[in-house]
Amino acid sequence: MADPMAESFDAIVIGGGAVGTATLFQLTALGCRRVLLLDRGEIAGGTTARSSGCLRTHYSVPINVAVARASLAMFGRFAELLDDPAADAGLVRAGYLIMAPPGPASAAVRGSIAAQQAVGIEARLLDRAEALARHPWLHLDDIDAIGFEAEAGFADPYLTATSFARAARRRGAVVRTNMPVTGLLRDAGRVVGVETPQGPIQAGVVLAAANVWSREVAAWAGIDIPLEITAHQVFTLAAEQTYGPELPLLKDLASPAKLYMRASGGHLLVGGGHEGVVTQDPDLPDIATDPDALLDEAAQAAARLPAFAEGRLVRSWTGLYDTTPDWNPVLGPVPGVPGLHLAFGFSGHGFKLSPMIGRMLAQAMLGLPTDLPIQPYRLTRFAEGEPLVGAYGAGAVS
Ligand SMILES: Cc1cc2nc3c(=O)[nH]c(=O)nc-3n(C[C@H](O)[C@H](O)[C@H](O)COP(=O)(O)OP(=O)(O)OC[C@H]3O[C@@H](n4cnc5c(N)ncnc54)[C@H](O)[C@@H]3O)c2cc1C
Repeated sequence: MADPMAESFDAIVIGGGAVGTATLFQLTALGCRRVLLLDRGEIAGGTTARSSGCLRTHYSVPINVAVARASLAMFGRFAELLDDPAADAGLVRAGYLIMAPPGPASAAVRGSIAAQQAVGIEARLLDRAEALARHPWLHLDDIDAIGFEAEAGFADPYLTATSFARAARRRGAVVRTNMPVTGLLRDAGRVVGVETPQGPIQAGVVLAAANVWSREVAAWAGIDIPLEITAHQVFTLAAEQTYGPELPLLKDLASPAKLYMRASGGHLLVGGGHEGVVTQDPDLPDIATDPDALLDEAAQAAARLPAFAEGRLVRSWTGLYDTTPDWNPVLGPVPGVPGLHLAFGFSGHGFKLSPMIGRMLAQAMLGLPTDLPIQPYRLTRFAEGEPLVGAYGAGAVS
């Protein structure tokens, strides 16, 4: 039952990562100012802190192309969007170059580039000479199709999330960090707020943007969600020469680990695009990187970029993905649990989608039409046999 003494907000967001902060900002931009964000840690201290920050609109699932494109546009006018000349998402438009060997992956690259062009995205196929003109370090003998997207690149997830939180605060939002949500307030089946160690807080609507911790929140609502937690490692390598941001972001579908690579502080950042290692615990402390897997992926990176054959390991870390069966997020209201919205399952590609997803989630929470359809991301799509799987199959390219 509602507690007349409890604090009250129009909307509460659980989780201050890329998704929760973008949604909080958009709630305030849509005029909903009595909003609260609660995070049990710090802003951008969850999986967002470990993100590689890569941005692209290259997808084979059409709704992902639309959301990524709208998000990239928001990254591109970040200071204006936040109405703050000092706001900076750290966007570097290095370009995105995707390479595929002969076979189905090559066909998927060609099809995706054609689909992007059809909606007006500046993307095209390159021949080897054109690719080498953009990235002279590449070895391309085994590559059949090369797609290139000039406007893509990477941004800084920490800067992005903290800037969204600050802009929301300026518009009246309340942000409380080091404040865990410990349960949901229910009234006749409806979610009417959250429980915290400092007491209940009421809200008209609650969004759980809790990423790998989402199962716990869903369990409070009595639902089981299709979420697997998978561990993925990232590392950086140094070569003789500086690896600069003028070199495009790379996606190597010919490598066994389906590597992605980009510049990072003069070094090469390398991450795997494979299924990762399943784990049950979202609260793992610092997970050690697997040295054998790291050496193997470093060798794969050197096969594509021979300048790294003698590369020196600079840093490595492991982060967790909130992976769904089709490797796409679940967004929006929960059938049978009025008052609760969910945003989870970003499956390793949520940062690039987060600005527009924040807009769509905020609109859905306020009962407004969404700028792009949120329906394809509904929770029930798996049971309904309508997973979001495109030409690349289930995986992070999507
Ligand atoms: C290694 C790695 C590389 C990646 N690379 C890319 C990339 O290149 N490009 C890309 O687009 N995406 C990438 N991603 C994915 C992307 O970073 C994530 O999808 C995105 O940052 C997730 O944001 P989030 O807000 O959903 O989650 P999080 O940042 O994890 O935020 C969730 C928050 O919820 C809080 N929380 C949880 N439970 C509670 C509770 N009970 N009470 C209060 N607070 C709670 C947590 O403290 C946390 O801060 C990568 C991810 C990883 C791990």
